[in-house]
Amino acid sequence: MDVTPDEFPTSAYIGGAWVTSKDRFAVINPATGRDIASVPNLTAEDARRAIDAASAALPAWSAKTAKERAAVLRRWYELILGESEALAQLMTAEQGKPLAESRGEVAYGASFVEWFAEEGKRAYGRTIPTTASTKRYITIKQPIGVVAAITPWNFPIAMITRKVAPALAAGCTIIVKPAEDTPLCALALAKLAEKAGVPAGVLNVVTTQDARGVGQALCADGRVRKLTFTGSTEVGKILYRQCADTVKKLTLELGGNAPLIIFDDANLEQAVAGAMASKYRNAGQTCVCANRILVQAGIYDRFASALAAAAEKLVVGPGASTGVNLGPLINAEAIAKVESLMADAVQKGGTVKTGGAKDAAGSLFYKPTVLTGVTADMDIVSQEIFGPVAALIKFETDDEAIALANSTPFGLAAYLFSQNIHRAWTAAEKLEAGMVGVNEGIFSNEVVPFGGVKESGLGREGAAEGLDEYLETKFICLGGM
Ligand code: NAP
Repeated sequence: MDVTPDEFPTSAYIGGAWVTSKDRFAVINPATGRDIASVPNLTAEDARRAIDAASAALPAWSAKTAKERAAVLRRWYELILGESEALAQLMTAEQGKPLAESRGEVAYGASFVEWFAEEGKRAYGRTIPTTASTKRYITIKQPIGVVAAITPWNFPIAMITRKVAPALAAGCTIIVKPAEDTPLCALALAKLAEKAGVPAGVLNVVTTQDARGVGQALCADGRVRKLTFTGSTEVGKILYRQCADTVKKLTLELGGNAPLIIFDDANLEQAVAGAMASKYRNAGQTCVCANRILVQAGIYDRFASALAAAAEKLVVGPGASTGVNLGPLINAEAIAKVESLMADAVQKGGTVKTGGAKDAAGSLFYKPTVLTGVTADMDIVSQEIFGPVAALIKFETDDEAIALANSTPFGLAAYLFSQNIHRAWTAAEKLEAGMVGVNEGIFSNEVVPFGGVKESGLGREGAAEGLDEYLETKFICLGGM
């Protein structure tokens, strides 16, 4: 198959069949506002058919050896890489991020498939020294069963491979409900999985506008033994409740409100580079984007000026155009949210150092913005901005910075910049976050555990921990010895 922006699957995928429907919904390019395709608007009933298919496929897939499953996953990985340019263009067309970032995400997304293909071979159990001479104790790891995955639009490939690859490697089968805004990358991935030899029913993709109905069907069905979700904390809490009745295992990768702390002794150049990477990637629409930039008084003015100068160099425009660093936001709601957070901050005394308005590139584009004089009473401090606005808060002491950083129900990523190893280590230990970047603005990859604490979620993706999320531990007691 050649996945090109003009030629890619636009049917859903259930039980190894490409499923169409008269009821369809449009996929829109956020840079132009134009429809690029339409996909089936499937129902809760279709979701149940996908569960039937995943259940039927489970015995044979879970009975394969890890090495056999690895060979299929490895082929999928190679096919994804082989189509990386077409996939990147497809991603930019439906999601809006600059092509360079889409290329990066295809490679990042594929890396999970490569990693878990191998890691599946290492689902080790244990032998445990016995407490009775007549008994022996062993644990084995077994696939949890049928998995449901609900994914967001901001990383249309990586948020899927990060779930599907470990699930399949572990021997589970899976139903993916991709975000309504970005179903095409999910379908393209399914097409490549089919080509790689993933058997019918092992991977299913249900496209829908009825997220609530399909979500309820997936959560209510006792055959689905695990739900893995990436998205907002608000929806994560709904799904958490909905899974209680069938006591499903859960992975929840939810919202963040990442603090990025610049201490007085930070290397200014490094701090600006880290803040730029963390803040403006994907136009500020990542769960690990620096949401609150806490800057110590002694370096505040120099940092604000240097960050504003760097932000002004970013080129805003359609992601498909050469040289663009900042694409559109995903939809009108996202722009409206950024505008309302900015209005609240300015009304409460914040100062726009650069940007602070929509960009002439189009109705969904917002200028890279640096806002100074930010205080704790502003909405921009307590809410996820999900836009290209750097909000700078001034602090005096280390304790004050840590207290500010931790004063949120969220705990996904945190960043700090300091040249003093003692200070950096102490702060890293005290920060309530699942991940801490020290003198680094970007740190996620397939070999490290990604996830949050507090209301940012449960469980980890990537690394050995990411495989364990799809396995149950069974204890076997061998008696009569
Ligand atoms: P969202 O509104 O929570 O949507 C995420 C997914 O959930 C989409 O597929 C959505 O479908 C679906 N959904 C919405 N309401 C649902 C319901 N009642 N039942 C079942 N499914 C439902 O989040 P988003 O706006 O797409 O993504 C942004 C959020 O994701 C941010 O908060 C961000 O921080 C978070 N995120 C977290 C991570 C992480 O790893 N922690 C990574 C990326 C993003 P529709 O698209 O059809 O609405």
